[in-house]
Amino acid sequence: MKKNENVVLVVDDVASNAQLLASILQSEYRVKIAQDGERALELARSEPIPDIILLDVEMPQMDGFEVLRRLKADHATKDIPVIFVTGNDATHQEERGLLEGAVDYITKPIRPVIVKARINIHITLKEQRDKLLFAASHDQLSGLYNRRHLTEEGGRKFSHALRHEDALSVIMVDIDHFKKINDTYGHQAGDNVIHAVATVLQTQKRNEDIAARYGGEEFVLVLESCSLENSHAKAEQLRRHIEALMPEGIKVSASFGVSTLKPTHYSFEDLIKEADEALYRAKESGRNRVCS
Ligand code: GH3
Ligand code: MG
Ligand code: MG
Ligand code: MG
Repeated sequence: MKKNENVVLVVDDVASNAQLLASILQSEYRVKIAQDGERALELARSEPIPDIILLDVEMPQMDGFEVLRRLKADHATKDIPVIFVTGNDATHQEERGLLEGAVDYITKPIRPVIVKARINIHITLKEQRDKLLFAASHDQLSGLYNRRHLTEEGGRKFSHALRHEDALSVIMVDIDHFKKINDTYGHQAGDNVIHAVATVLQTQKRNEDIAARYGGEEFVLVLESCSLENSHAKAEQLRRHIEALMPEGIKVSASFGVSTLKPTHYSFEDLIKEADEALYRAKESGRNRVCS
């Protein structure tokens, strides 16, 4: 398989139809075939995840509309573009398909050049949208989430934790005397230090936790279902990691402020504010330490 070969899932109850499409597409794409709705949903969720789905409308048991509805209802498959493959004279099906979330439709009989052109258009659009979404939620230098994403996702986690009486903690991290690092070793070295510290946070956090760049040399971690005590211990572990890191051969340390959700908190910003206050105490009491 070529490295960047895109994956197309062809869904058609008639084997000869599916085979015809597959034979047209095989030279340019990796083709998966499903002959009924259940199998289509299964293949849409399994590796290699399809980049696009060609979905027959008329199928016994589960028709194309129902398959589309279920794809849209599942977080894992809802963003895979679906092109409907409709019968010869089926304007109303095309309308309904587009209304229900298909990106396009192709009419039988299949014309190879048209099919490939439409597939390529929608794969390209999807890739462009993914890139935009990534850029809008990530910080370029550190590769972590940016502050905007932190605020949105933190707000969601805050509401969820409050509703379920679940623990939620925030760790705020600020590199010590970073201005001096810039002044002594240069801005580029400073950038590399930020990247190195960010990598520690990214690799040491749990999957469900958020690591974000909050500002210049400040970072925030949001820890789901994690008590103050455990978050404090986590911060202490991170502090030691960073102390031992020596990025660019420079001795770097960071200070940490930890806060946890209380019934008196109104918003995610309250948690951030308390972590920031704890961070201030860590700085005041000598830096390279954790306060909560
Ligand atoms: P403290 O221990 O109290 O945190 O001192 P500090 O020097 O780390 O804090 P201060 O807020 O005085 O300085 C932060 C510096 O970070 C100032 C700013 O120029 C620098 N900075 C902010 N963003 C970037 C960046 O993206 N790259 C680099 N190289 N430097 C940055
Ligand atoms: Mg059919
Ligand atoms: Mg700072
Ligand atoms: Mg600092």
